[in-house]
Amino acid sequence: MRDIDLKQVNEHLERLSAEDILGWALKQFGPSRLAAQASMQKTSCVLMHMLGQLAPEVEIVFIDTGAHFPETLALRDEYARRYGLNIVTYQPRQTFEEQFAKYGRHLYLFDDEFEPPGYRECCRLRKEEPFLEAVNGRFDCVVGGLTRAEGGARSHIPILAEDPRFAGYKLYPLARWTEGDVEDYIAKHALPVHPLYAQGYASIGCSFCTTPVRLGEPRRAGRWRHIREAHPERYGTQGLYCGINLEDRRFEKEA
Ligand code: SF4
Repeated sequence: MRDIDLKQVNEHLERLSAEDILGWALKQFGPSRLAAQASMQKTSCVLMHMLGQLAPEVEIVFIDTGAHFPETLALRDEYARRYGLNIVTYQPRQTFEEQFAKYGRHLYLFDDEFEPPGYRECCRLRKEEPFLEAVNGRFDCVVGGLTRAEGGARSHIPILAEDPRFAGYKLYPLARWTEGDVEDYIAKHALPVHPLYAQGYASIGCSFCTTPVRLGEPRRAGRWRHIREAHPERYGTQGLYCGINLEDRRFEKEA
């Protein structure tokens, strides 16, 4: 891992715009050692557009879990086409059928209290493992779309954080952005966004584990609703996370 004084660098990055933070990373790591992680959610669209302007050769890592909404895959293809982005798709080692054959059940339907395990293991196998295999040894820094305004696990994320899983760094150029900032950027640049937002979805992941958000519910309430509602005593209204971002996992342990 490159030696970086995180405290000093973060103090510097806190004063820069998102575009300048990306510019700093391109200079610090070089475009061939910098990647971005694409969820195809709104913050991801903002970052892909910025990278398209600054360095379209930067690899954008998209993990196809095998359970994405067709609209998610269509949006990925539209961004690649429209902005000339270098989006590369990676898949888990096993299909859902192979996973089922191995564990005897669909892991995403269960919490993790039993053996065989549940949804966190499914997320590890279908998101985290292919992500780490894609970036390990190839990139020193991966750009992600988390914002502090999302609250919960993400309230206090630094702009630059170490990620020992791939001996590199995660960079969150939008850490200081509000939801309004994201919407303004999307409107200003007329960016295409996921069509399911218009149908009541607020956070969008795998189709098996994503539902629309009901009136008055927090933004992440639609993710893994079946797990939260099966264990209200354990989770209450707490948002659940897939663990692909280390910051979220640290929070889940503390909560
Ligand atoms: S979101 Fe659901 S289906 Fe997707 S990897 Fe996680 S548990 Fe599996």
